[in-house]
Amino acid sequence: GRKFFVGGNWKCNGTSEEVKKIVSTLNDAQVPPPDVVEVVISPPYVFLPLVKSLLRPDFQVAAQNCWVKKGGAFTGEISAEMLVNLGIPWVILGHSERRLLLGESNELIGDKVAYALSQGLKVIACVGETLEQREADATMDVVAAQTKAIADRISDWTNVVVAYEPVWAIGTGKVATPAQAQEVHTSLRKWLATNVSSQVAESTRIIYGGSVTGGNCKELAAQPDVDGFLVGGASLKAEFVDIIKSAT
Ligand code: 13P
Repeated sequence: GRKFFVGGNWKCNGTSEEVKKIVSTLNDAQVPPPDVVEVVISPPYVFLPLVKSLLRPDFQVAAQNCWVKKGGAFTGEISAEMLVNLGIPWVILGHSERRLLLGESNELIGDKVAYALSQGLKVIACVGETLEQREADATMDVVAAQTKAIADRISDWTNVVVAYEPVWAIGTGKVATPAQAQEVHTSLRKWLATNVSSQVAESTRIIYGGSVTGGNCKELAAQPDVDGFLVGGASLKAEFVDIIKSAT
């Protein structure tokens, strides 16, 4: 079976005081053991060492982005090698905020995923359609093209978690219904079976993100192809613990 996965994407939020408070809440929480749920916290770059040093050892840490290749003369960028050097095991790549606000293309994100994996990082690869694309019935075309740009560049999916995050659900309070999430997750799994392999389709975690809360997570988690969550706003709050608990 696919182990339930809960990621907390803090995005560009927090002060060192707030970080310490959130981590202390997480450290005190009673949650299912790591063989039942994999918990990964993703603070902004500058807080990665602090979070790593304070966070309970059964929770892991992720960066929110990294550079597309080996480091060098790339002002403002952080390389995959640096994350490895700090002992950061995970990186989120292809978040819609980077696709839409920073202009990251499917191809760039595919290259980033391939490079991060080659350096030994594990990757949370984000895909998802805008409202306009959904209304034009293009959801699966968009998600397939985003996934294909990754599939074209990697062969081993062991260290990849795919996050389906419909853009219209992110930060809007408009969570996908359990049926809407399940529909895309099952299509994505079929896409992997057809275009990669049935083994990869069966074993790759596909998690949902977009307005997940303590209140709506149980119903979503009950869907057969929803293998966990990537949580934004609610990951900064105590209810993140309830979302972790939806694993069981
Ligand atoms: P929200 O949970 O705030 O909607 O954000 C989801 C997200 O973008 C996680 O990566």
